[in-house]
Amino acid sequence: MARDFLMVGAGLSGAVVGRALAEAGHRVRVVEARDHVGGNCHTRRDPETGIMVHVYGPHIFHTDDEEVWDYVNAHARFRPYMNRVKTTARGEVFSLPVNLHTINQFFRRTMRPDEARAFIAEQQADRSILEPHSFEEQALRFIGRDLYEAFFKGYTQKQWGCAPSELPASILKRLPLRFNYDDNYFFHRFQGIPEEGYTAMVEGILDHPNIALRLNTVFDPAQVGEGTHVFWSGPLDGWFGYDLGRLGYRTLDFERFTYRGDYQGCAVMNYGDVEVPWTRITEHKHFAPWEHHAGSVCYREYSRAARPDDIPYYPIRQVAEKALLTDYAARARKERGVSFIGRLGTYRYLDMDVTIREALDSARATLAALKQGSRIPAFFHPPL
Ligand SMILES: Cc1cc2nc3c(=O)[nH]c(=O)nc-3n(C[C@H](O)[C@H](O)[C@H](O)COP(=O)(O)OP(=O)(O)OC[C@H]3O[C@@H](n4cnc5c(N)ncnc54)[C@H](O)[C@@H]3O)c2cc1C
Repeated sequence: MARDFLMVGAGLSGAVVGRALAEAGHRVRVVEARDHVGGNCHTRRDPETGIMVHVYGPHIFHTDDEEVWDYVNAHARFRPYMNRVKTTARGEVFSLPVNLHTINQFFRRTMRPDEARAFIAEQQADRSILEPHSFEEQALRFIGRDLYEAFFKGYTQKQWGCAPSELPASILKRLPLRFNYDDNYFFHRFQGIPEEGYTAMVEGILDHPNIALRLNTVFDPAQVGEGTHVFWSGPLDGWFGYDLGRLGYRTLDFERFTYRGDYQGCAVMNYGDVEVPWTRITEHKHFAPWEHHAGSVCYREYSRAARPDDIPYYPIRQVAEKALLTDYAARARKERGVSFIGRLGTYRYLDMDVTIREALDSARATLAALKQGSRIPAFFHPPL
């Protein structure tokens, strides 16, 4: 029997779950507070230059998940794109992630891989730190003070608004160095950017006769109608009116500027020095190297703590937030008629491919629950 579902949010989470339920014959309404679909992946052509702008920050699609790759390719034409990031630090431009080129340039050497590995282990890494307690100690233990201060310290401090000595060691799980010249930022098998942007892709996902979309509509949890199951991809604490307090987020400010020509020669340039207030500059036309534009649109990106009216970008998930999250998650599990999905609904950082994987799995679990006559869970992917 066809059921009524309401997706709150027309980002990837709401769109992918909604599409799967619509294809299974259910009636799906999607409400979105913004004037566009796509959530934070939203792309829009700049009216002045015609450049495809990643409005809420740069988005590169990468995955090892073949089903997810097939899914996005069924809804958009993807062009190959390799993310190669540069950083400006101490008056020089280096290649990221820190690789053999970066190491040789930084130390003015011509080391081969084995020599560089031995050099870092024996002359740089701080082996006196046996049990690292912070991000800083972990970095010093792996790579030593020189590389840490040039490439990790200032950037991390600007991104998270606190000293790396206050961040947990768990953030840096692996050795963040490569002992070869591979400067492809991601390890995944599939990587690309949709030719006509992510918004067109999400519009395609939502294009189904069983889906009705309303933009510019803020959904208030008090409005839930009888018999409708809600998929909430808004903030978990927002469902409860933030009555226990707010889960902390970092937000981003983008300072847009235009340029005639090529401003920086690459899509993403990080700024490692703490004296430079922005974390990076993105030059959007380089995300579409198959297009040609005389003008250019760039974003200087600044990170800071989110206030109530800001867009929540990165969940902070430190000890205090996790305690509050535990309380909200316990309440959420007692709610009826709602499932919490996506990056905001579960208060986790999720890449796009993981978001789609989780959304597909959530829709399948929902259809299985309907078949068995069991309750649709509050969480398909627990926040903790
Ligand atoms: C700066 C930045 C860069 C990123 N870069 C990459 C990248 O390069 N590669 C990658 O794979 N991933 C990247 N991501 C992650 C990517 O943005 C997420 O995976 C994706 O946006 C998650 O989709 P979502 O639908 O869960 O959430 P969202 O995109 O946040 O969508 C949620 C939607 O719900 C709406 N909403 C919320 N509350 C309400 C309400 N009460 N009523 C109506 N609507 C509501 C919001 O307006 C929003 O449109 C990046 C994220 C950030 C922050």
